[in-house]
Amino acid sequence: MPTLLPPKFGPYGGQFVPETLMPALIELEAAFVSAQNDPEFQRTFDKLMASFVGRPTPLTYAKRLSEQLGGAQIYLKREDLAHTGAHKINNALGQALLVKRMGKHRIVAETGAGQHGVASATAAALLGLECVVYMGTVDIARQEPNVFRMKLLGATVRPVTSGTQTLKDAINEAIRDWVTNVRDTHYLLGSALGPHPYPTMVRTFQSVIGREAREQMLAEVGRLPDTVIACVGGGSNAIGVFSGFVDDAEVELIGVEAGGSGIASGKHAARFGDPSKARVGVIHGTRTYVLQTEDGQIAETHSVSAGLDYAAVGPEHAQLRDMERAFYTSATDREALAGFQTLCRTEGIIPALESSHAVAEALKRAPGMRKDQVILVNLSGRGDKDLNTVIKELGQL
Ligand SMILES: *Cc1c(COP(=O)(O)O)cnc(C)c1O
Repeated sequence: MPTLLPPKFGPYGGQFVPETLMPALIELEAAFVSAQNDPEFQRTFDKLMASFVGRPTPLTYAKRLSEQLGGAQIYLKREDLAHTGAHKINNALGQALLVKRMGKHRIVAETGAGQHGVASATAAALLGLECVVYMGTVDIARQEPNVFRMKLLGATVRPVTSGTQTLKDAINEAIRDWVTNVRDTHYLLGSALGPHPYPTMVRTFQSVIGREAREQMLAEVGRLPDTVIACVGGGSNAIGVFSGFVDDAEVELIGVEAGGSGIASGKHAARFGDPSKARVGVIHGTRTYVLQTEDGQIAETHSVSAGLDYAAVGPEHAQLRDMERAFYTSATDREALAGFQTLCRTEGIIPALESSHAVAEALKRAPGMRKDQVILVNLSGRGDKDLNTVIKELGQL
């Protein structure tokens, strides 16, 4: 069967999977392409985005924050206001609709912080699909409220005890389940990662963020932003917002990775920020930048935000970086926590710790920019899920 979409982003991406999974990837790509060309599918997706997710999410002018920083005007794209509290629901619902289209009835998903697990369980409940979520036991202990949420939504949460008992091990288990049950099961991957067609498909479902943001900037501000900033875990919220501006060469695109305890400490998840540990490699079906040990094993990562704590980055980001169309930097745990507190106090918005990395970058850049310049920050999610972490990190407030 001919390939329907380009499977690679320059030298990155591809399909590095066991032969038994190839039919499932080919079936998925065919279903995705036919859905993209089917106005009825688009209508169903758009309707769910409006009536269930609450889209379009607003564009909010951060007036007090902008005044305090004294430079560029800062606008926030409010994915924190989407149902379930983050952008992940856009992709979960898009893929769940494809599952119905393929005539499958069961989804497996992986989750670290639990946000993608909650989004998948929500989509499964809405569309009447069976849902199994794999989650490392370390993450289960850290993210108890999200485990309860998934169970309330009717999902089965399967604890993963292998490896470091975190996200990468949960992905391994989800893939194992998928290989075994591929006839009736879809792997609902939560970021712009994995083998083709996942990175393209996830970007497409998340591109609603960039499409809305571009229209809102033009309608409400009367111009495009000078700079768009988003945090980058696997890279789905970033590629979603970037996709709305990537053809506007004058708009600068900035991705922010997790700097953890600082690059020099080695405890971080800055795949582009640490040439001593990041090399191109293959992980979970795709070729991209991976933090590795000297022997090529997956390095351990650290971030205060579970959603950015992963050793690899989506392949399209690797290409955008090579092309110098997007630029990547990092914010440390400390900088993210400062961004978190600043946004709480100046704007009355409690952001996710992941999104706080993007806020931290805006805090660094805005003062050096002119007052007639504009920064758009993608606020990928809300911080309710992070309150325990924040209380622990900040000690007595
Ligand atoms: C999962 C998550 C992220 C990181 O994932 P991406 O695929 O890089 O977007 C960022 N922000 C929030 C709120 C998340 O839940």
